[in-house]
Amino acid sequence: MKKKKLLFLVLVISIVTSITFILDAFNASSDLINVTFKNKIFVWILTIILLVYYRRSNSNPQLVPSVLSSDKMSNKEKSKPDVSFKDVAGLEEIKDELQETIDFINNSSKYTKMGAHIPKGILFYGPPGTGKTLLAKAVAGETNSNFHYASGSEFVEKYVGVGAKRVRTLFEKAKKDTPSIIFIDEIDAIGTKRNLESNNEKDQTLNQLLVEMDGFNTDDTVVVIGATNRLDLLDEALLRPGRFDRHIYIGNPNMNARQQILEVHTRNKPLDKSMNIKDIAKKTHGLSGAELANIANEAAIIAVRNKETKLTLKHFDLAIERVVAGLEVKNPTVLLKEKKTVSIHEAGHAIVCKILNVDMVQKISIVPRGHALGYVLKFPEEDRYLLSEQELMNKISGLLAGRAAENLVFKEVTTGAKDDLDKATNIAREMVCAYGMSGLGLMAVDEHYIKYNYDIVRNEIKQILDKGYQRATKIIKENHELLHHISNVLMEKETIDSDELKRIFDLYETPIDCAT
Ligand code: ATP
Repeated sequence: MKKKKLLFLVLVISIVTSITFILDAFNASSDLINVTFKNKIFVWILTIILLVYYRRSNSNPQLVPSVLSSDKMSNKEKSKPDVSFKDVAGLEEIKDELQETIDFINNSSKYTKMGAHIPKGILFYGPPGTGKTLLAKAVAGETNSNFHYASGSEFVEKYVGVGAKRVRTLFEKAKKDTPSIIFIDEIDAIGTKRNLESNNEKDQTLNQLLVEMDGFNTDDTVVVIGATNRLDLLDEALLRPGRFDRHIYIGNPNMNARQQILEVHTRNKPLDKSMNIKDIAKKTHGLSGAELANIANEAAIIAVRNKETKLTLKHFDLAIERVVAGLEVKNPTVLLKEKKTVSIHEAGHAIVCKILNVDMVQKISIVPRGHALGYVLKFPEEDRYLLSEQELMNKISGLLAGRAAENLVFKEVTTGAKDDLDKATNIAREMVCAYGMSGLGLMAVDEHYIKYNYDIVRNEIKQILDKGYQRATKIIKENHELLHHISNVLMEKETIDSDELKRIFDLYETPIDCAT
């Protein structure tokens, strides 16, 4: 840094001197008249050289010692975590799988005597918030190892060589205080396939990581755990035996796991006797561990806000709504006409979902939350791993029912269906490209095929969406009295819970499912 400041100072002096020489050339009485023309030329050339050198130094990594020397790598996360396996709920088979690594770290001599060496790299992959970091910390906690945390994005720098240096430093530190766990979160930030995205800095960082993983001694008790949401993006070299060769998928928790996670996160909270954690687990299908932890925390905050001393189901219901649908907008300024449109839109969703049995409708609301003006809160009755073609079509009809109801009642449509269209299109695209459920028949459609046959694929997706929309329209048409009834109650009360919805449905003779 000092060197750069000095350079800047010299440059400023020489620029000022050069300008003075130029100005003095027009001033005959100047004191500088004695300076020879040769010297003036020398100063001007020197100024130009300094200027060029200074400009280059700003873009040349070799001359940016401040960046290289700053060890931005998070020293924040070198610690001995006090997390153990009992804090990680519902991932029993994964904990079993990791037992061997833990035993290896705790009793390394037993293995080295047999000539075995420690598994170097473990890769956790899966959706966000499912406990990958927590699990890595628990491995460190179970083995009393030092935990070195780094996020892949911390290695990404514009200066060539900086990321590689950081990788080197991280591994040096970890090797100094063994046993240790290096945890690299978002490893895809540095580990993407090299041919996909050629970037000199990134390639160097990845190469350094590969070199470091190869460079362990067999008696180094260092385990590297990587985490990513996108295993498919990672470079083959990173995944080959000897590097991250153990891949463990961590997905969203099932019903039992959700119950266990909620139990972990409510163990220090005063629960009312009437509370049954299983009831909450049933209502939180598809949510991650992080979201469940958030719900437990939000429920406690709501109870405090209401000046109550025990947590009840009511607090959890409000917390689920807060987490799933977003923050309630206080004093919304929605026009009456818009409110009516939203009530018809949401009533349309509710009717089609209920008639086609798409999940359990928990609540319909036209109270704006997050960026939504209204919503239908619904969860599947049980965890499902296989869905039939008909069930997927029903989902699409349920999603497009809001738009269909608006169109039927107002003869015009609004922007309110944006999110529904996204979701419905995603399902239809998967049906065509991944599940072989379209006119294209039994084939997996890859990016290459789509690129050259876009119109064909688009047409198939459109046909599915049109079919789903037509069915939704038919159901709403046949049940239009029910639609208006629900909409009117929503206009009056703003929300309808599952019991009230059932009562309204019961007033009508078997609502009609218009199977096509
Ligand atoms: P990301 O991919 O976004 O980095 P992640 O998979 O690393 O997410 P974590 O950071 O481990 O997720 O989880 C966030 C929080 O969620 C944890 O601190 C914990 O409170 C809670 N959590 C997630 N999974 C579990 C679980 N299985 N048991 C207990 N708590 C969990």
